[in-house]
Amino acid sequence: MSIGTPLDGPVDASLSRATRLARVRDRMREMGVDALLLSSGAELPWLTGYEAMPLERLTMLVLPADDNATLVVPELEAPRVDHDPRLFEMRPWAEHEQPIEVVAALVANRTRLAISDRCWAWHLLELQRSIPRAHWQSAREVVGPLRAVKDAHEVAALRAAAAAADSVAAALLGGEIPLIGRTEAEVSAEFSDRLRQAGHDRVNFAIVGSGPNSASPHHQAGERVIGRDEVVVCDFGGSLQLGDGVGYCSDITRTVVTGEPEAEFLELFEVLRLAQAAAVAAAVVGTPCEQVDRVGRDPIVAAGYGKAFFHRIGHGIGIEEHEDPYMVAGNKAALVAGNAFSVEPGIYLSGRFGARIEDIVIATEAGPLPCNQADHGLAVVEA
Ligand code: ZN
Ligand code: ZN
Repeated sequence: MSIGTPLDGPVDASLSRATRLARVRDRMREMGVDALLLSSGAELPWLTGYEAMPLERLTMLVLPADDNATLVVPELEAPRVDHDPRLFEMRPWAEHEQPIEVVAALVANRTRLAISDRCWAWHLLELQRSIPRAHWQSAREVVGPLRAVKDAHEVAALRAAAAAADSVAAALLGGEIPLIGRTEAEVSAEFSDRLRQAGHDRVNFAIVGSGPNSASPHHQAGERVIGRDEVVVCDFGGSLQLGDGVGYCSDITRTVVTGEPEAEFLELFEVLRLAQAAAVAAAVVGTPCEQVDRVGRDPIVAAGYGKAFFHRIGHGIGIEEHEDPYMVAGNKAALVAGNAFSVEPGIYLSGRFGARIEDIVIATEAGPLPCNQADHGLAVVEA
């Protein structure tokens, strides 16, 4: 595989993090951001390898553009931190302390601050009270474009997660996972078990939509018993760590039938399969993100199913299952080598049936690299 910069960067995760930190500082200076405040969400593990517990106790990395970074962390959680002193200092806080005041002191006289999207609102409200002169913006505007370009370690992690999800999809397509006579929830639980057995540390979701439920893209697997001659949409994924404590996500959808589907479904599925393949092929470096959506959408519209495809064609993926860049009308940003994202058109006929096919794709200088290899044809699972 030939993939040009920046994917040829260091594979060692800690070296990657030093590089990331330097890039973040450069971008902060370009954007005129004085300090980043990173709490819950993906920016903190991406930079430090540490994921904050999403609890009421504040964890926050204070990263000034012009000084060392400091991780403000509850004392009882400090032992969980794999502390790399080259990246940040530690400031554990005791139960009787006010962590907001600790953060405000570290921010000092800096006023242009960027904070994690997923920081709790009440933490932000307290910070706004403690630092009344500050101007606030989203840390995503600073870090998002950097996180959207995966380095070699991240590409390896995404490919490992995709391969693990592929093995579960192959079991589905090969009829190893019985469907007929089981509830959606039972099949969903089996997907979750198999994702873990295949190496995932965490399962994020396992959608199983059978019969008319297949027309609901985010259907919650329930007590419906899967019958014969039905359509079943299966969309599952989780997060897998590749040695450095930070998980990267998988996300795959395959649609199967449990016997003889209606003739219209066969036509619809073929339209979808060709549209998905065309959109993957269009994911070439330099192509605007919205063009990937359009290439996948046009044949679906031409076949008369335009209103039945009512979501964007894809989302970026990394530490988060949905992140930048989004493949959606209006996103004119050009794909760059290292962008990783889903390509997942769907066609949904309410009350009847639906279908979706999803792969994770990485844009590389050598062309689109599909991470998922599980077969795209319509599998008949009569078990
Ligand atoms: Zn999915
Ligand atoms: Zn997806």
